[in-house]
Amino acid sequence: MFLSPIIDAHLHCSELADDELLRFARFNGLNYTLSELLELMKENNVEKGLLLSPPVAAGSIAPNTKILELCQKSGGKLFPIVTVDPSKSKVSSALKIAKANKGYVKGFKIRLGYVQAFADEPVFSPIYEYAESLQLPVLFHTGDTALSDASLSHAHPLQLDRLANRRQDLKIVICHFGNPWMMDVAELIYKHENVYADISGLVAGEGGKYSSQYLESVAAKISDAIYFAGGAEKVIFGTDYPVETFSSGLSLVEHLKIDREDIDKIVYKNALELFFSGH
Ligand SMILES: [Zn+2]
Repeated sequence: MFLSPIIDAHLHCSELADDELLRFARFNGLNYTLSELLELMKENNVEKGLLLSPPVAAGSIAPNTKILELCQKSGGKLFPIVTVDPSKSKVSSALKIAKANKGYVKGFKIRLGYVQAFADEPVFSPIYEYAESLQLPVLFHTGDTALSDASLSHAHPLQLDRLANRRQDLKIVICHFGNPWMMDVAELIYKHENVYADISGLVAGEGGKYSSQYLESVAAKISDAIYFAGGAEKVIFGTDYPVETFSSGLSLVEHLKIDREDIDKIVYKNALELFFSGH
């Protein structure tokens, strides 16, 4: 078990039958239920986590109200992130939920490649303005997509440079460290004061015959990005449960070639500061 407390800034759960992440859960031998998630958090010293809507059948997502409901049942362990798809009505309903649950909702998530939207499209502006006013982070899925018909050009992390240039007060979190474009993410977190990156979901799947080399390779790339950025202040731990198990996620952290102080920042302090201070 990890000695320091942990915040997992990227978790999924819906308890819905058409949840698309069920296949990852089955592969990882997980039940993928709220009670299992809370149990695993306890076992792994995860003090609290952020819950994000998973994809469900027909390109949709589990309703944000369902995510709120699961958080409310978690006994103060899980906090909601509201997912926003690119339409006027989705944007206004996401804002309504965030405003009605002010202080409880910890941020927004935009799926980019899955919905073929660029981060700087005007449809998202009301979300960004609200997020800026409360210092709420906006998370963006970047890099590899779980579906082969999703758009990599929309999911490429460098697409966020334009948004970060225009909105220097918006706190942007690049999910999955832009995998495999990790050095591009290193440049983004170095260049932009308000850009962060999570390391969730990087060690998923069977990995094939090179799985141990792959773990070393990802750990080396994240370590290189940290050296390039000059520190670990913008790097945040997450698993992407049930896509990645807690043991795989924590094993990635243990393989990083950085000191203890930076590990504590990644697994706890950075997320505490970014998501749980004020709002
Ligand atoms: Zn995810």
